[in-house]
Amino acid sequence: MFKGILIEKDGNSSSATLKDINDSLLPEGDVTVRIAYSSLNYKDSLAITGKSPVVRRFPMIPGVDLAGTVEASSNPDYQVGDSVLLNGWGLGETHWGGLAQKARIKGEWLVHLPSAFSLQQAMAIGTAGYTAMLCVLALEQHGITPDKGEIVVTGAAGGVGSVAVALLSKLGYRVVAASGRMEEAAFLKGLGAAEVLGRAEFASPGKPLGKQRWAGAVDVVGSHVLANVCATTKYGGVVTACGLAGGMDFPATVAPFILRGVTLAGIDSVMCPRSARLEAWARLARDLDISKLDAISHGIGLSEAISSAPSLLAGKVRGRLVVDVQR
Ligand code: NDP
Repeated sequence: MFKGILIEKDGNSSSATLKDINDSLLPEGDVTVRIAYSSLNYKDSLAITGKSPVVRRFPMIPGVDLAGTVEASSNPDYQVGDSVLLNGWGLGETHWGGLAQKARIKGEWLVHLPSAFSLQQAMAIGTAGYTAMLCVLALEQHGITPDKGEIVVTGAAGGVGSVAVALLSKLGYRVVAASGRMEEAAFLKGLGAAEVLGRAEFASPGKPLGKQRWAGAVDVVGSHVLANVCATTKYGGVVTACGLAGGMDFPATVAPFILRGVTLAGIDSVMCPRSARLEAWARLARDLDISKLDAISHGIGLSEAISSAPSLLAGKVRGRLVVDVQR
């Protein structure tokens, strides 16, 4: 038996509870992992609260990521005792996920834990941090270097945002953090933001084009915020869009794209090809100042993941929540 959060369908709604689950119920897979840490991501909170149809199969263990030790394996790439991590691939959506003490998965989804990180640090970064790195890689791939100008990071005090601020500042970019929580300005400056702007500047319907300011952007918010970021991006700039914390809509015009050559780069962490994942984790090991992870993350127990989900969706959690599945 192992402990895990189980989301069960209850008529038209769903409910999440901490349960003792029999190993025999684990899904098919060639590697069994004894999970040490998972993390609470935005999507996990949607799944736990049932606010969005994230879960595609019931019953479901939520948790889009995990870090742990291989307990059994018939996959030649993974031996018993190996330290591994996993992000996405439908975990917590179509396949039982990380908010439990055990998982059985396809070995091809796993990544060997980079030696730079402990299991706990890997989940302090988690899917949000790995997605932040995918955004940084996309900016680089489109030629955005620190000399090109400022990078704006929206939803900066959240999980993706805080890791993006830390990464970009370490790489030498001038980072402007946009946040609805000005009380987190000192936290964001501690991560390396040169300036902190209030969310209100971005949140209302704006003009098709505004004063050119950003060479690049990491947007986790969507909706008017993303539209305004695009409208104020400089000629040839690049906006990476990875989130919908403010809404799924995109009330914009094509003006920034056809008049200023702005690129809108979509970022997906779930089905991201293996080579890009390995690159992202290698770059996290190289470019993330690990000493900042203590400020970015704090630990909770497995049962607290359920009670923390509504606050995360309400934008009240600073940085990242690491889930110690043993408590
Ligand atoms: P968090 O909840 O940790 O952070 C989101 C932040 O967005 C909040 O902290 C807040 O920042 C801001 N925010 C929240 N609500 C609103 C709102 N109504 N309007 C404007 N801003 C708001 O989530 P994550 O950082 O983990 O994830 C952010 C987004 O990225 C989510 O939509 C998530 O689904 C998506 N995501 C996508 C991935 C992908 O593969 N594409 C992978 C990982 C995440 P502040 O207080 O600073 O304004």
